[in-house]
Amino acid sequence: MDTLPSTPPPAVEEPAYRVFLDSLDYLAPVDRERIKAAYAFAAKAHAAQKRMSGEPYITHPLAVAGAVVEWRMDADAICAALLHDVLEDTGASKRELADTFGKEVAELVDGLSKLDKMEFASYQEAQAENFRKMLMAMARDLRVVLIKLADRQHNLQTMSAMRADKRARIARETLEIYAPIALRLGLNKLYRELQDLCFRLIYPHRAEVLAKALKAARGNRSELLTRILDGIEGKLESAGLRAEVFGREKSLYSIFRKMKDKQLSFSQVLDIYGFRVVVDNVPTCYLALGALHSLYKPVPGKFKDYIAIPKANGYQSLHTTLIGPYGTPVEVQIRTREMHNVAQEGVAAHWLYKDSEESGADLQVKTHKWLQSLLEMQGSDSAEFFENVKIDLFPDEVYVFTPKGKIMAMPRGATVVDFAYAVHTDVGHHCSAARINHELAPLRSELKNGDLVEIITSPQASPNPVWLTYIKTGRARSKIRHFLRTMQNEESARLGERLLRQELLSLGVVPISIPSDAWEQLVKSGGQKSIEEVYTEIGLGKRLPSVVARRLLARENLSPEKPGNMTLAIHGTEGMAIQLAKCCQPIPGDPIIGSIKKGSGLVIHTHDCPAIRKSRSAEPQKWIDVEWEPEDGKLFDIRIKVEVKNTRGVLGQVAAAIAEAGSNIEYVSMDADPERLFTLLRFTIQVAHRNHLAAVMRGMRHIPEVTRIARERGGEA
Ligand code: MN
Repeated sequence: MDTLPSTPPPAVEEPAYRVFLDSLDYLAPVDRERIKAAYAFAAKAHAAQKRMSGEPYITHPLAVAGAVVEWRMDADAICAALLHDVLEDTGASKRELADTFGKEVAELVDGLSKLDKMEFASYQEAQAENFRKMLMAMARDLRVVLIKLADRQHNLQTMSAMRADKRARIARETLEIYAPIALRLGLNKLYRELQDLCFRLIYPHRAEVLAKALKAARGNRSELLTRILDGIEGKLESAGLRAEVFGREKSLYSIFRKMKDKQLSFSQVLDIYGFRVVVDNVPTCYLALGALHSLYKPVPGKFKDYIAIPKANGYQSLHTTLIGPYGTPVEVQIRTREMHNVAQEGVAAHWLYKDSEESGADLQVKTHKWLQSLLEMQGSDSAEFFENVKIDLFPDEVYVFTPKGKIMAMPRGATVVDFAYAVHTDVGHHCSAARINHELAPLRSELKNGDLVEIITSPQASPNPVWLTYIKTGRARSKIRHFLRTMQNEESARLGERLLRQELLSLGVVPISIPSDAWEQLVKSGGQKSIEEVYTEIGLGKRLPSVVARRLLARENLSPEKPGNMTLAIHGTEGMAIQLAKCCQPIPGDPIIGSIKKGSGLVIHTHDCPAIRKSRSAEPQKWIDVEWEPEDGKLFDIRIKVEVKNTRGVLGQVAAAIAEAGSNIEYVSMDADPERLFTLLRFTIQVAHRNHLAAVMRGMRHIPEVTRIARERGGEA
């Protein structure tokens, strides 16, 4: 800190800079001196640069610092904003910044530069990785992201000199990444500004037309607006409530989105009038609500209490919709001053309204917790991470209760499984069912507002890949994927071990007779860490057992076409490493054959499966003989079709026969044409083996209405 540059800053006479200096009055004199030094440093470093608009480059960091000052952030953040582009664009080093302005400023600037520096093979990859970097930087220091958002906002404001396609690309990226982050942090004002800026950049013509229409409409509607405003103000006053009432302006982008998403016309969107009532304290919010409900009738089902149950980004208000004069819908938000601050500025309210204790402090804690939970997901790759977190960024929430009465916010559409993972990872991994409002409910049940949810766990239960098709939260998705990956690797390793063993035996070698240094050599030559990894690769189909076996025996000269003459035994309970093909659904007793499919392990088909005929004659070396060695108690899905005479109650008779033979019905469908003489019933049932299936079919043949029974084949391979 002792080497502050002594040369006077070149652009010190700029009026913008003077305005900026005047705005620093909330800081101590020593801080103001540091900021001046940072400005001088940046101005000198960027002296040779110009913005694309032709202005001196320093105007940009100055504008960004100005936004940071508006949030009343600390001197380190302001210095970092002034210096945010020096590492990248000029010769300055991080070391130099640390020596001159302190380690904290250097770290902030470094964090900001890293967000910019990345280059990627594809746009999608860049998106995902940028996004991940943003959130990670944010988790370390929230100030980085606020400065970054201010940077982006100023860039969008000053992009007119840029090529149209580049402009649109940056605007799209902002809509997809930066705007949702601003919203998640509760920076609603900035969020709306970013959206409107992007809208104008992507659809300049539409934005212009819409802006004109909005201006004209405002004039036409001002009379009704005033009438409603007077009505609300008068009612609150006569109730003895002190309140400020504002008409609420809709942003261009929100009008555009409503027209597009809800298929509304411009006037339909605009015919909803919005008002905001700001009062002194929480009890007054509810009193004001009561007063307004006696002024105009409320629309049933539209009332929302975000005061008792705040949104995840800290937003609090009472929302109601009233039926105003001429049946005009009137949306009203009622909140306290503190709530209003948080609603406008989100986490930044913490710096902005330091003196009022309530604003933002609680929100900072909550945001911090959210960011920590993001760090937990960091293991996944960026595309996956992006997908996981995107869900969290567009919260449309439902609120449910734990058995202890704790309220939990879940995204709309969240299921029992999402809830279980929100409670605890172990609860998620072992959930088997739930009680919703004291009634038993399956795992895929969607949660509704006010549900009381109790998770039933069982030590045997474990995550199922099917869950991934209906869960809604990023947390559950990332935990389940992680579990399945670990599981699959283990199962694949066991399969790989057996495949290699079988291959060695078919070459006349007992695995145990192979010296240990041959094994070590094998591991090393393939670049793996352990023999387990080699097994996993074989099991996943990434390496061929025959190739590995020859390498292991150092007998590369063996004929590669020589088929193994030993048979692999499968139990049907191996899990993900061995899959029973969906096309033919083999069951124990069927003659079977297997092939290794890259990435998904061994797939088992029946010998007579029509879907594999071609591949078996074209590539016989890909097929492995397998046989059943079924485990007790395991049931297998199989499809059958049953043709019956179209008489009343026949489905019930068939179902009873299936149940009597000890089989479960998983699925049934029928063509519902009562005009026809015959009906085709299609079942998926569960049987233990071929003989069991035969017994089920025998049972059905006794029913006189049954004319034909057959096992179904074919369909997707
Ligand atoms: Mn910049």
